[in-house]
Amino acid sequence: LTSLTAGARLHVIHIAAEMAPVAKVGGLGDVVTGLSKALQKKGHLVEIVLPKYDCMQYDLIRDFKALDVPVESYFDGQLFKNKIWIGTVEGLPVYFIEPHHPSKFFWRGQYYGERDDFKRFSFFSRAALELLLQAGKKPDIIHCHDWQTAFVLNRPDRMQDNSANDRVNPVKGAIVFSNIVTTVSPSYAQEVRTAEKFVGILNGIDTDAWNPATDPFLKVQYNSNDIEGKAENKEALRRHLGLSSANTRQPLVACITRLVPQKGVHLIRHAIYRTLELGGQFVLLGSSPVPQIQESSAFSISGEISLFFQREFEDISNQFKTHEHARLLLKYDESLAHLIYAASDMLIIPSIFEPCGLTQMIAMRYGSIPIARKTGGLNDSVFDVDDDTIPVQYRNGFTFLTADEQGFNNALERAVYRYNNDVDGWKQLVQKDMSIDFSWDTSASLYEELYAKSVARARGANRT
Ligand code: ADP
Repeated sequence: LTSLTAGARLHVIHIAAEMAPVAKVGGLGDVVTGLSKALQKKGHLVEIVLPKYDCMQYDLIRDFKALDVPVESYFDGQLFKNKIWIGTVEGLPVYFIEPHHPSKFFWRGQYYGERDDFKRFSFFSRAALELLLQAGKKPDIIHCHDWQTAFVLNRPDRMQDNSANDRVNPVKGAIVFSNIVTTVSPSYAQEVRTAEKFVGILNGIDTDAWNPATDPFLKVQYNSNDIEGKAENKEALRRHLGLSSANTRQPLVACITRLVPQKGVHLIRHAIYRTLELGGQFVLLGSSPVPQIQESSAFSISGEISLFFQREFEDISNQFKTHEHARLLLKYDESLAHLIYAASDMLIIPSIFEPCGLTQMIAMRYGSIPIARKTGGLNDSVFDVDDDTIPVQYRNGFTFLTADEQGFNNALERAVYRYNNDVDGWKQLVQKDMSIDFSWDTSASLYEELYAKSVARARGANRT
């Protein structure tokens, strides 16, 4: 036990539905890669298991090849073969599972949003576990990410929903089966529940992938000691999008997000108009989680809502197609996201709830000041410059509590006022935010401790 807690080498296997940059929809992809790299750097053996999606970025996988021996796994009482592929992503060994099942679970041209997502990922979870078993892997830790991999622990009695007995509840099952449950920020852990085995550890960001000093997607690289390059990126983005470049001091406010209710879409919409009223420019890069929605009466409620927002934003986007000061880009675009972080002066994150949130951290690393709602992980990483209850050294952005237009206006107006009227103060804030350590170092150490504790507990339980 002593040797475990004092830094033994652990074998950790992450099972997940996303991994940046090959298969990324949102923050989950960033977290799987960032945490894995940080743990590997600390000397642990880290491997990842992913589905083999047809729409992955195959050019970013090195030494990609299929294994000779298939892995068999059960689904609906039948055995199916899975072809296993291996490759290296960002220096990490990854196993990709390709099911030989007539439903072609991962040949859909998109990651999520299929009506059989539940089946797709329960198949994947079972196959992932079979892969570990048949490959003779004996990991110390199996780290399952999000509901898609909760089925790794499947057993009907434990997975059953507490209130609807005919239903399977993967999140409940995951909690019952796991040794430790984590979430991605301390505040969110408080908000959803407090329990002894539930721990909130704030995510970090991959500071190699998100580094303005080396970022190949930028027009000009820059760092906290020399932020002149930021202005050049602003100019490049404006030219690229056809926005007016007449006033270099005109504040550029941005939002990079999935357009789902969680992200506070009504406030995002409001922010466009309010920013223009305040004399600023606004850029939205917003992706819909359901890119190819087919007309279907059986479509899920969340799909319907996403479709509704997508159409609404398409209308607004058309309205601003040739506007001098606002542009809405309704797509997922990794390279443009990098340029927007670098070019913008402020980034809004008006989430209704936010387990952790990464865009506020990435923004700060690129010197874009966050304007965020005080919830979940935003509350653990963005601290208001005007809040006297917070030590000055931690203050790094603008926050608001109530999720309405008034609440948001207050934060946005204070930000724009300061940007316009305190040029030196703003520059210092930019430099300060760029110097904050958002790397995975601290958080990976917390996971390390937790893994060691969990291994020790499980071994103790096995002995008795
Ligand atoms: P979530 O996981 O809920 O989407 P996070 O803030 O944790 O939110 O992570 C979002 C990640 O996805 C960030 O890396 C962000 O840059 C990226 N992202 C979100 N929307 C887009 C988009 N439309 N285009 C490119 N990248 C995006």
